[in-house]
Amino acid sequence: MKACIPIRCNTACNFVKGKFPYHWDLNVYRGCTHDCKYCYARYSHKYLQEEGEFSDAIFVKTNIAEALEKQLRSPKWDKSVINLGGVTDSYQGAEAIEKQMPGILRLMIRYNNPIIISTKSDFILRDFDLIDELSRKTYVNIASTITTADEVLQKKLEPGAVSPKRRFLMLKEFGKTKASTAVHMMPLLPYLTDGEENLNAVFSQAKEAGVDYLLTGFLYLRGETKKVFYHFLKEEYPHLWAEYQNLYGNGGLKDYKKPIYEKIWRIRQKYQVSADYKSRLDREVYGKMQPIQLTLFD
Ligand code: SF4
Repeated sequence: MKACIPIRCNTACNFVKGKFPYHWDLNVYRGCTHDCKYCYARYSHKYLQEEGEFSDAIFVKTNIAEALEKQLRSPKWDKSVINLGGVTDSYQGAEAIEKQMPGILRLMIRYNNPIIISTKSDFILRDFDLIDELSRKTYVNIASTITTADEVLQKKLEPGAVSPKRRFLMLKEFGKTKASTAVHMMPLLPYLTDGEENLNAVFSQAKEAGVDYLLTGFLYLRGETKKVFYHFLKEEYPHLWAEYQNLYGNGGLKDYKKPIYEKIWRIRQKYQVSADYKSRLDREVYGKMQPIQLTLFD
């Protein structure tokens, strides 16, 4: 793999608005070699001055641990949950060379700070001991996006990511810690991953891996994501082009969703896999906190 381009950051964690179970996001990298065809984060590359594709030119924030410590030790910091890797995967291939995550996790342990990590890589197991230690001190959630159990489709959709089987095994391993674990089955891709067979396969393997919850979410297409996804569709599944035009170009998504929601509900009941991501977070973190401060850091 190509070497990363070093950059420096002013702040490690950025405030994020929206209905997320966290308000702070930390991204070690910019760009992501997993190259998912539905990736929503592609917009983040267009703000960089340097040329390069999202999955090709990877930037690493070399001073991120230093910047993080500055935030964590500030008297203004209230031990908010930090989401590691909301815009890029913290355990993509570059991490094997850059080794930024162990330093970040050690700081989380020192400052007793709750975290969420979402990754499509089982390389996170390198840091198992650190994550285990942190999970015994505070809230930790390890989540993996798994859209399909079909390895052929997965390789087309997420060419740089490890197989769904390895992701389930990784989640099962973290079940041995005190961290909560989750599958994000999102985005659901119409006519590709929303079928009975795939839903049963993902829910049953999530059950087998012992995850705490599984969330689903529909595909939304706009901007750069729309361009890349439509190109993928034309190349790989041209027969679905008209169906997608109907859903995303002619307002058909609303009618499409209802039966899919019903199907998911039925399969969720069958495997008894929860969708509750909130109770434990409220109990272990937000129940103990002051209302979230909106103060941004200098
Ligand atoms: S792993 Fe996440 S950030 Fe990386 S390409 Fe896939 S969707 Fe985008």
